[in-house]
Amino acid sequence: MAYLFLAIAFIASAVFSAIAYFVIKTPYDPALLMLATLVGCTSVISLCFCAALEFQSRLRKDAERKSNQQRIVLEHSASTLMLLDTQLNLEFLNSGHPSFDVFNKNYIKGEKVVDIWRDNVPEETRQQVRHAITEKRTWRGELCFGTSKKDSYLLTTISPILDENGELSNVVICAEDVSEHKDIADRLFIRENYNVLTGLPNRQFALRTLQSAIKDSDNSESGFILIHIDLDRIRYINDSLGHHVVDMVFVETTERLRRTLRDDQILAHLGADEFLIILSTETCIDEATIIAEVALERCREPFYINHHEINISASIGLCKYPEDGDDCTLLMRHAEAAMFNAKEKGGDRLSYYEEGMSSETELRLEMENQLRHAIERDEFKLHYQPVVNLESNKLRGVEVLLRWQNADLKNPNPEQFIPVAEQSGLIIGIGKWVLENACKQIMTWSRSGLPALNVAVNISAKQFIDGDIAEIVRYALQQSGLPASQLELEITEGLLINDTPEIREIFTQLKRLGVHLSLDDFGTGYASLSYLKRYPFDALKIDRSFVNDIDKCEDSVTLVNAIIAMGHSFNMVVIAEGVENLHQRRILRERHCDMVQGFLYSPALPADQFVSWATRYAEMQRTQHV
Ligand code: C2E
Ligand code: MG
Ligand code: MG
Repeated sequence: MAYLFLAIAFIASAVFSAIAYFVIKTPYDPALLMLATLVGCTSVISLCFCAALEFQSRLRKDAERKSNQQRIVLEHSASTLMLLDTQLNLEFLNSGHPSFDVFNKNYIKGEKVVDIWRDNVPEETRQQVRHAITEKRTWRGELCFGTSKKDSYLLTTISPILDENGELSNVVICAEDVSEHKDIADRLFIRENYNVLTGLPNRQFALRTLQSAIKDSDNSESGFILIHIDLDRIRYINDSLGHHVVDMVFVETTERLRRTLRDDQILAHLGADEFLIILSTETCIDEATIIAEVALERCREPFYINHHEINISASIGLCKYPEDGDDCTLLMRHAEAAMFNAKEKGGDRLSYYEEGMSSETELRLEMENQLRHAIERDEFKLHYQPVVNLESNKLRGVEVLLRWQNADLKNPNPEQFIPVAEQSGLIIGIGKWVLENACKQIMTWSRSGLPALNVAVNISAKQFIDGDIAEIVRYALQQSGLPASQLELEITEGLLINDTPEIREIFTQLKRLGVHLSLDDFGTGYASLSYLKRYPFDALKIDRSFVNDIDKCEDSVTLVNAIIAMGHSFNMVVIAEGVENLHQRRILRERHCDMVQGFLYSPALPADQFVSWATRYAEMQRTQHV
């Protein structure tokens, strides 16, 4: 700027000289003219000189600004940026990044960058990087640097810089800290691949492990073994003690199973009460059998949770690769099919996969799908089995038994489809349908002149726990107009395995409605008689397995006799199921059993056939033939 003022001063003096000469008309004086010309030339030269200086100063300032900007960018960059020479010595390193320390420490020591990675980066990766630089290629990958505080994961790009002859002049490294992303990715990975409760690999992880086990054993030409474990009776524990207790059972089971396995044997938690063990390729079937048997034993040991002693068992299925399936989904299905086979034989045992077993698993799935539509397709029918008073021989009531007419599944019986409906939760809707239609039917008969009958409806534990049963019963009674005293709800012992305040409350609500409660299939459940005192049952039904040999076996007579006496001591009406002949009926009558039902009288019949049967029976009674 100073130069500019100087130039202006010169120009001004030249202008003044010219004015003096031309305007004031100073007489011709060559010396003055020369002076004026000199001043003018000097002014022009000064002006050019000043302009050049100004231009240079601007260029310098621009360069300074740019370099300042670059410095700010480098210093505040979230990435670590490094410039290396051709020998991979560090020439420049920006300092604004946490991993700066790792590099700077070694940089001061004069180490090469690739050597600085020595402690952190696997030799294989370092080789790859060297290779890429030699080949003048860019390398990109994730490197882990451990510091005293924590590990940093750097997403690193290594770019060789070439001069105009195509020779390596420098190497630029740009490393971005992705530790935070890595942390989130790790957590997502854990959520996707591990069971949150037990921390074991989940089904997805197990499938991937199976895939690689298949690859490994194909390479080594050896097979491996899969063990599917399913805990028995978990449903009852869930219904009665709640899922928190069940969760603790799963955690404890995990510990017990872990203890039975070596490190190279993989244990996965497939979900709910299902576990899977993948045995390494060296394991033979005998060793697998021993492992499965130890697992059975471990599951049999009592669980002590929240002051409850819980006894469960397991059903185990085994299958082999490649004999029982050559892909992982098939193997999983076959191991599960073998497990189902063990369960169907009563559980607490192991079973090896055999051809044809998986059809049972598939049938279950198919059954569940079909059950979903059974009500809307009008496939359910109610059948009615008479219940007769032993002393008077009078028809006392009926038990309602559900029938499913499904041609695709060849009309499965309740023992096949009720467990599937229970497991899938569909029993709640189905049970409601049964209750409403049974109540309506009894009222229809009553209005058409048939004597008032009691109606017994089977209720599953699941309906009790999840189904708001008291409200469903109240609605069915109100909608049909059936007096509550004519309705009996049949409940099995399974529900009472562990009594909880919630279950007791439901019993109280039902009793308040005025309905009767019967304990069904007595003797087949959990054999704890204390609940007979605690729950307000009106009737006890002796399971047909006790009745069917009382005409042949004295021990059974003694047992049935004891059950009748005990029922009476609790003021319960005793009903015997499955009475098939006159001999059985006579024994039961002598032992003062109150009611009987069974094929001796009639199997369960459709509504119209039941009316004919009841009319014929009443007629026979009148003519004293019964
Ligand atoms: P349950 O309640 O103990 O029903 C008695 C079963 O014994 C019925 O089998 C009946 O047909 C059969 N039975 C009756 N008399 C005799 C006899 O003299 N000899 C023989 N061998 N069997 C006889 P069903 O109908 O196959 O039902 C089996 C079980 O399915 C029932 O046992 C009950 O637990 C369940 N169930 C049936 N209908 C329903 C329902 O609507 N809801 C629920 N939750 N369960 C149901
Ligand atoms: Mg029943
Ligand atoms: Mg029964």
